[in-house]
Amino acid sequence: MKKAFVLFLLLCMMCLSSCGGQKSEEYSCEVFAMDTYMSLKAYGENAAPALEQAQRTLYELDSLWSVTDENSEIYAINSYGESAVSEKTSDVIEFSCEMGKLTGGALDISIYPVMKAWGFTTGDYRVPDENELEQLLKNVDCTQIVCEDGKVSVGEGMQIDLGAVAKGWAGDELAEIMRSSGVDSAILSLGGNIQAVGTKPDGNKWNVAVQHPSRDGYIGTVSVSDCAVITSGGYERYFQDEDGNIYWHIIDPKTGYPAHSGIISATIIGPEGKKCDALSTAVFIMGMDSATELWAESDDFEMIIMTQDEVIYR
Ligand code: ADP
Ligand code: MG
Repeated sequence: MKKAFVLFLLLCMMCLSSCGGQKSEEYSCEVFAMDTYMSLKAYGENAAPALEQAQRTLYELDSLWSVTDENSEIYAINSYGESAVSEKTSDVIEFSCEMGKLTGGALDISIYPVMKAWGFTTGDYRVPDENELEQLLKNVDCTQIVCEDGKVSVGEGMQIDLGAVAKGWAGDELAEIMRSSGVDSAILSLGGNIQAVGTKPDGNKWNVAVQHPSRDGYIGTVSVSDCAVITSGGYERYFQDEDGNIYWHIIDPKTGYPAHSGIISATIIGPEGKKCDALSTAVFIMGMDSATELWAESDDFEMIIMTQDEVIYR
């Protein structure tokens, strides 16, 4: 995540959809926050102020949780090993640690030093050697993170990166802003994260397409209302070395290397953006067997998975 307020692309614009009438008035805006181009659309008479509030919230979350913004709360934790934080930051860290447990350690927000070693935060990509990764992995263990009395402390040499859950969390907050502003129809696209609020203005469900991980086109669509549809794939951020090997930004905390579980795209569908986001990253790392086990014992999400042989499981 970069410093907030990086780029604010388009002002809210208003247009009338073809069926006309107050209820279907469409408002949209584009925002760059959390290192991601986001596109928000909301319908009806309360949509414009709701979108403005949504933008402010995205910038606020970015400035709280950016790993590179020297004024962020995450930057303070990562610099001093301990810091007083807002309730929101404490909540997102606690939630991420719970997700770490649920996913058997596949999701681990203390992965940041490893992300840095690969150059994913700066764009100065490199392949770290095994020794370096082994040293760094000694400090990757989110069970060592303590959230207490408005303070977060981490183990020696430990640093946090909320990149796997922040956009999902933001989607939930934005959906709540829409509902409490009286907007009952909105579609919020935060990069690979879609958060649907209510239904389309005509009452039909939203159709959300899941992008093919390695070529143009889609691997499927889902029809949803009041739901998050969140995809993790290696195609979103990666680099290639001189031999043509591809290294992507989702790291297996057991090895320190980009995850090769056999899954090349993981989409999680469920009522909570934060959980879907955490799980999409984790499932990509866990692989089919563990992911299917987790899905079978849970009742709050569905998944669409593509494996490296391009078989789609739904
Ligand atoms: P994106 O944010 O690109 O949509 P994800 O939600 O899958 O994709 O999150 C990927 C990001 O999560 C990485 O850029 C990094 O910041 C962070 N990350 C990578 N590996 C892990 C991991 N094992 N546990 C927690 N966070 C991770
Ligand atoms: Mg994620």
